[in-house]
Amino acid sequence: MPNHTPSSINTRPEEIGLSVLGRPILVHYHGSPEAPLRLFFLCGQHGDERAIHRAAQLFSQSLHDSPELLGDLLQVAIITSANPDGLALRSRLNDQGVDLNRDHLHLRTPETQAIHRFVAQWRPHLTIDMHNFPSRRLHLLARGLRLAWDLCIDFPTNPAIPVRDGHPLFASLAQALELRLTEAGFRYGRYTMVEPNGSSRHGTPQLLDARNVLSLRYGSPVVLLEARNPSKRNAPHDHRHIRQATLLACHELLRWATNHAETLLTLQSHPPTPSRVPIRSRRRIAPQPLNVPVVSLSHGQTQLLPCNPHRPLVEGRRSVSLPLAYAVPNSETGVLDLLRRQGLSLTTPSPSPGFQLVPVTPATGPLLALLLEAKSNFSPYRRSPLRDPIRRITSFTDSQSIEALS
Ligand SMILES: [Zn+2]
Repeated sequence: MPNHTPSSINTRPEEIGLSVLGRPILVHYHGSPEAPLRLFFLCGQHGDERAIHRAAQLFSQSLHDSPELLGDLLQVAIITSANPDGLALRSRLNDQGVDLNRDHLHLRTPETQAIHRFVAQWRPHLTIDMHNFPSRRLHLLARGLRLAWDLCIDFPTNPAIPVRDGHPLFASLAQALELRLTEAGFRYGRYTMVEPNGSSRHGTPQLLDARNVLSLRYGSPVVLLEARNPSKRNAPHDHRHIRQATLLACHELLRWATNHAETLLTLQSHPPTPSRVPIRSRRRIAPQPLNVPVVSLSHGQTQLLPCNPHRPLVEGRRSVSLPLAYAVPNSETGVLDLLRRQGLSLTTPSPSPGFQLVPVTPATGPLLALLLEAKSNFSPYRRSPLRDPIRRITSFTDSQSIEALS
């Protein structure tokens, strides 16, 4: 049946987990559960970013009121508050004092565990991680300036991620958003860190946040959407302005995803299979400085601030070919616990030779290489070397127990 059943049957929120203090973490669904393309909007990891939380609620409401925005291809899941304790306490952190968007590798909090369980089960084809960014950074304020962008996006930057910064899919999305937002009079840009020393760069390649870790773990594209934190001075007007920019961007994302449905569906059904995975990286300096639009706080005019050097690109170095499996010694309980929290399958060879086998698949290979290769500079163990080395199983003769893999 091509047309929608009334959306109300799908908009009842589902509880996917509880916060540290026992508050429910809710997902709101929109669209037919039969629709082939699944988009996941993740919002509110930082409890103090109330403006984006409100915008996500309005976006959810807009899909409830106008289900035709989804067409026949899309279904949408929205978490408007991934950190309900932080939201209640106006805190960036959760009640354990953890920044949830730095916990996507270790998964030490019930909130990030709930997000990962949901993604593992619902398998979105595209995830949009929504935040507010502060435009008033101290070193800019000292010069009487603030960042001018209303809305920015960023992409995964770790070189091991197949669908990362520079992928044609992301170039197309950035172009669509830029066109739509600038045409409507908003300031749109690529999310950029302007450092006190005048240099600039995009997101880190480290394995910390939803952007890099969810795309590595589940292979599907993740986009960071950053709306400027509205100013406190002319608050009502600026709040409305940023909310409109965010809603427009979310609706444009739906339109763009519909137009790129085939590519998004194929990326999940046939993930790219890298033959080699870069496990180290370096930033490359662009030949030209980046001109960042800033607003003068004294006269309100927009001007361009040249940032030099600009390091937009993260380049992969020292690639490894993927083994069939990694053998992790039983003594390395920290490594094994992390792999289990990430939901990666471990097999215990029989009779036990003292290690667990971690099979490598096209989907899990890049993450496993970054975590388990001794030379990886993204390994969480690079500063505290393991007592027993992790072995690469590259052929069926490496171990009698390798049969456990097949
Ligand atoms: Zn945030």
